[in-house]
Amino acid sequence: KPSIVWFRDDLRIRDNPALRAAVDDGAAVALYILDEESPGIRPLGGAARWWLHHSLTALQDDLAALGVPLLFRRGSAAPIVQEITTAIGAGALFWNRRYGVAERTVDAGIKTWARDAGMHVESFQASLLHEPWEVTPKTGGQYKVFTPFWRTVLAQDFRDPLAVPDEGRGYAGTLPANDELESWHLLPTTPDWSAGLREAWTPGSAAGHQRLKEFVAGGLTNYDEGRNRPDIDGSSCLSPYLRWGELSPFEVWHTLASNRSESTSIFASELGWREFCWHQYFHNPDLATANLRKEFDRFPWAWPDSEGHETAVEELRAWQRGRTGFPLVDAGQRQLWQVGWMHNRVRMIAASFLVKNLGIHWQLGEQWFWDTLVDADPASNPANWQWVAGSGADASPFFRIFNPEAQRIKFDPQGKYIARWIPEFGTPDYPEEIVDLKTTRQDALAAYKELKEVH
Ligand code: FAD
Repeated sequence: KPSIVWFRDDLRIRDNPALRAAVDDGAAVALYILDEESPGIRPLGGAARWWLHHSLTALQDDLAALGVPLLFRRGSAAPIVQEITTAIGAGALFWNRRYGVAERTVDAGIKTWARDAGMHVESFQASLLHEPWEVTPKTGGQYKVFTPFWRTVLAQDFRDPLAVPDEGRGYAGTLPANDELESWHLLPTTPDWSAGLREAWTPGSAAGHQRLKEFVAGGLTNYDEGRNRPDIDGSSCLSPYLRWGELSPFEVWHTLASNRSESTSIFASELGWREFCWHQYFHNPDLATANLRKEFDRFPWAWPDSEGHETAVEELRAWQRGRTGFPLVDAGQRQLWQVGWMHNRVRMIAASFLVKNLGIHWQLGEQWFWDTLVDADPASNPANWQWVAGSGADASPFFRIFNPEAQRIKFDPQGKYIARWIPEFGTPDYPEEIVDLKTTRQDALAAYKELKEVH
């Protein structure tokens, strides 16, 4: 009997335990479902859809070389999996685990159905170095502080990455009806805003491996300092490849293991933050919509359009378009709009500016990033927004308010990053500052003080 390997956020053929199990089992058929219907699934943003389209195209080619056809279906996952497994008479179903509560609910339902139907069902750990329910503090529950969390994760043994499976037996049966990828309209057309993305990125596993190789041979040595500099190619730019599972964290880890240095352990701890974000998301499924620290529920953030906050509509728009008059914030927002990615330091500064200087709720920033980032991640995005806002786990304290001007002088000393993204900088076309940094900072601190006192 053939088996089914169900691809989700693991769009790779290397180090893919579910694929390996399916191919070892005999003739395999691969399935990808664009599920925007199951309850609680967060629909993808625009930049993510663009990436997904290209990633699936690359995956289809990679799988074809192994003799594994990839089927595309759109809709609620449970009935589709049932339909396809029945249609091909599958005897086994394999997938790599995912960690959002809505997704786990879908998976648990399918597992029960398939077992009841007499199928073999097996899931694997592939997207994270740790299983969030296995790594727990002695007192039980979840980790809320990064350092002890990461120490515990590091005490585990990480498995070696798996090689690409040998070409499989090939599925000889008829394939059930499935969609043309184009029919999903993941790519923007009117207008087509993806030119900058196309120029900046090559989605897919092969490109991810290439980037990893280049980074290890180049940027990694100087990563401890380079990672803070948006004006140079100082960080790995691996985030979308990790987000979509085109690279597995085990592969990245394994590559680092043969390159030990101060820079390597800093880089490794960034992978640790990715794990920590997923740890938080696993334990707090409403991470994108609820403050982890509940006292922040009473913080007087502006919600644009709400009474007394009418100017916030304009300010939010200026922030989104990179027209705040603060060049480092604006350069970051324009980089994001054009290439679907922003440097980490600039993400922190742009986010701090939105939340603390404009006083706008972090959820609106999170939603904007969700729509515009090619690495938009259901865990890392909300966790980092909460970190900046001060409402999250092991968060940056609220009173740490970045000064975008001081940061610009420090991290873009020659103004290269600004010049790259804001061609009109220094001309009358560049907007005036939309707020006063000093008074908005004082207002934010006063609001925070009140919150603490009431608490
Ligand atoms: P590198 O510095 O080379 O780091 C290597 C890898 O470690 C990254 O690819 C990423 O997978 C992981 N990583 C690094 N920093 C973090 C971090 N703070 N949190 C979680 N993982 C991290 N990252 C996302 O992948 N998706 C998001 O949606 C996302 N949203 C963010 C929103 C805000 C407001 C902030 C401040 C940060 C956000 N980050 C997000 C984290 C970080 O900015 C990006 O992972 C990083 O900029 C990606 O660039 P890189 O691959 O060159 O990173």
